[in-house]
Amino acid sequence: MQIKEKYLTINPFSRPGKSLVAVKGIVLHWVANPKTSAEANRNYFENLKVGKDGRYASAHFIIGIDGEVIQCLLETEVGYHVGANKYTERALKELSTYPNNCTLGIELCHKDWEGEFTRETLQAARELILELCERYKLGRQNVYRHYDITGKDCPKYFVTHEDQWEQFLNFVFSKS
Ligand SMILES: [Zn+2]
Repeated sequence: MQIKEKYLTINPFSRPGKSLVAVKGIVLHWVANPKTSAEANRNYFENLKVGKDGRYASAHFIIGIDGEVIQCLLETEVGYHVGANKYTERALKELSTYPNNCTLGIELCHKDWEGEFTRETLQAARELILELCERYKLGRQNVYRHYDITGKDCPKYFVTHEDQWEQFLNFVFSKS
């Protein structure tokens, strides 16, 4: 698939340049900023480098409303996408006490606050997830919502519509 590589500048707030200890899971997010592009969200992560808000955030990939994919971090690097004070039992059991050190994050853009994703975004997410699963020998059970790891309302549409999340996983791992 076509991926635009637009790596962030190494900096403490969004690209620490540390290595993942392993890739044990893939985590999906929503950008929580309606109508913004993949590029705009990539630039948001980049601009955190000045440390103005002291905010830490990033993800490895961002998928836009039209299905375009931007890569911000190498797959071997730690991103700041699932950090929290407290993690779910499932995350502690299946990942680690600091899941940022063993997961890849994918941000999904969306059109409104309900957060439903376009067909193009989901199609590209499917392709990317399958590629990563192949590369790291992962499967359906290794694909998480941010919610599954910290309880955060993210990606909102897949938290409020549990059935749609299941359906998305079915779509990703269907044979066609
Ligand atoms: Zn998230």
